This record gives sequence, structure tokens and C-alpha cells, in this order.
Amino acid sequence: MLDYILNKCLQEDIISDDEIIYLLNQREKGKVEKIFSVARKIREKYFGSKIFLYGFVYFSTYCKNDCNFCFYRKSNSISVRYRKKIDEIVETARQLKEDGIHLIDLTMGEDKYFIDHPEYLVEMVKAVKSATDLPVMISFGVITKELVDMMADSGADWYALYQETHNKELFKKLRKDQSYDERMEIKKYAKSKGILIEEGLLTGVGNKVEDTAHSFEVMKSLGASQIRTMTFVPQEGAPTKEQNETGYLSELLNIAVMRILFPNVLIPASLDVDGLRGLEERLMAGANVVTSIIPPHKGFAGVANSETDIEEGYRTIEGIQETLKKCGLKQADVEDYKAWVNSRKEMGNIKIENINYRCKTTGIRSRLSS
Ligand code: SF4
Repeated sequence: MLDYILNKCLQEDIISDDEIIYLLNQREKGKVEKIFSVARKIREKYFGSKIFLYGFVYFSTYCKNDCNFCFYRKSNSISVRYRKKIDEIVETARQLKEDGIHLIDLTMGEDKYFIDHPEYLVEMVKAVKSATDLPVMISFGVITKELVDMMADSGADWYALYQETHNKELFKKLRKDQSYDERMEIKKYAKSKGILIEEGLLTGVGNKVEDTAHSFEVMKSLGASQIRTMTFVPQEGAPTKEQNETGYLSELLNIAVMRILFPNVLIPASLDVDGLRGLEERLMAGANVVTSIIPPHKGFAGVANSETDIEEGYRTIEGIQETLKKCGLKQADVEDYKAWVNSRKEMGNIKIENINYRCKTTGIRSRLSS
């Protein structure tokens, strides 16, 4: 059965929901490695051996929300809190550019200070773009349509906003007192304004493989250009407890199956889950972007791991070189990345059916609820 499905994947035939679930359920080492191997072959076909690199600038750790899985939730009194000045943010972005980064990811919690002063966010995005001439991703949480318009006008290239799960009951437990639909709608609006979308999943929080298969359908309908999956890391001062005995195997399988289903989208290997030590496995599962590269000694935190490997300088371009080499990969040129972003933007108005997606949708959500 596994060989039959993987052969279809290699031929880039469409596979069914049941076949996706079969792949996600594999646990035996040899079988899992076969899935990763196919994912790598597909990555090689679409991206060669080139890997894109994202610099992470977490400029405000204040947040008005109380997500149950997050260290930076507003009611966590032990969370690190800071809010960086624009000069400092621009200087850090400039440093990242000099190091060879391909994109600057500007991230904040839903910080009321900036929400009330959107003009500072506009100034920040414009200043970073002007200082670096690099694509910029904004990760500001749920924002207004007006701010999306302002971001589109300021040149923001990407909007990252993770649903974490597309099971609405689980969403309610994770993102306490927040609206599932509002979160989805603002992504669609940003896409309609020409901004590329990143969607994301959290594993290890009680999600089933059927939920994951359903998420892939949603990612398809959203037309996300980058899709990620990250393992939940238990946080001091946050109520969510880990509910997955497989460690981050689910994350690795998600990466591989995403690569098979969405051959030409970007899929990150995040340094944020367990630092440099988890990078090789994520790349060997088919990821083609390294995210959460953070310059040391500048006082910037990570998200799932606020400190791991940052001050040691392991989450830098230099720090990851050995791992890239070991995986037979190399960093792309910045022009390669810009070309990819531009070509994806040009696809903006093409019907979603024309974007590669290798799954025949049979309505997994309706089967789940029956
Ligand atoms: S996940 Fe984001 S929105 Fe939720 S509490 Fe953390 S920083 Fe705030």
C-alpha cells in the first residue's frame, strides 16, 4: 500500500484523503524514511538544492490575547516583555541582510500600542524595505482591513497568520476568546490585495490526523504560498499541555506530506522548536526554508523557544551551514528568492485549481462530523 501511494506521489498523480491519512499515520522508521525520501525528490524537482533563509525580528512581545499555548499570553506574568524602537529594528534587519538573509519577518504579539498607532507599523515596514531591499513578512496577528491596505501600499510582501488548527472546537481551546472566522477572513482579504499568505499548524495539542488532512484542504482553498507546521513546546505559565506521544514525528510527517501535496510552495524548517539540533530532520523531511534565524546579542527573543540557541549564535546563517551541507543543500541567492516571490505574486489572479495540489478533495470535514 505504501509503495503504491508513494509511486503515485512520485508520478504527481492525485491522491485521496484516505491515502493522505495513511501517510500521516505511519510510525515505522523504514516506512517514514520512504515518505521523506519521496518528499525530498519532489523538493529537488521544484527547488533543486537551494534553501531560502528568513531572519526573524520579534519586535514586541506585548500581546492583548491569552492564547492557552503561548508564553507571551497577556496573563503570563513571567513572560519576557519588550518593545523595540524602529531604529533598532532597522539596524537589526540591515545586519541580517549583510549576513545573507532572504526575507525579514517582522513579528509582534497583538500589541495594543502598535494597534493604536498603525502609522508606526507603516514607518517600520517602509524603513526596513528601504534599508534592505528585501521582501518583508508581517506577523502582526489579526489586523484591520485598513491596516492590510496600508501594509499593501507600504510594500509588505507576506502576511503570516496561523490558524494553528482548522478544527473549530480545538481552535476555541487554543486561541481563547478569538474568532476563527475573523482570522480566516483577514488572510483572504490580504491575499486579494496581492499579499502572499503563510498559513500554519500546531501539532501535539490534541489534533487528529483527520484534522490535519482537513487543514490541507483549507490551505488549498486559501491559496497559501507558504505553509508551516510546528510542534507545540510546553510553556511555563501557559495552560496547554502536550497531548502527543510521538514527539515531533507528526511535525516531520506533516512537512513531508505537505511537500508531496503542495510541491511548489514554501515549507519552513523552524529553528524555533528545538534550535539547531532539529534542523537536519526537518530539512530531510522536505522543508525548503530555514526560519527563525535570529542575530545574537541584540536582545531579540524567539516564540516557541524564547532563548534556545540564540545567544550562542547557532540560529545564524553561519550556524546552520554545516547542517545544510550535511543534507546536500545550499543557501539560495537572494535573487532566486526575489524571483520566486515575484512569480508567485504574478500567479495571484490565477484560479487556485491551477496551482499544484495533489489531493482529490472528498470532504474530510463532513466525514469527521458524521
Ligand atoms: S500566540 Fe500570538 S496572539 Fe496568541 S497570546 Fe501569543 S503572541 Fe498573543
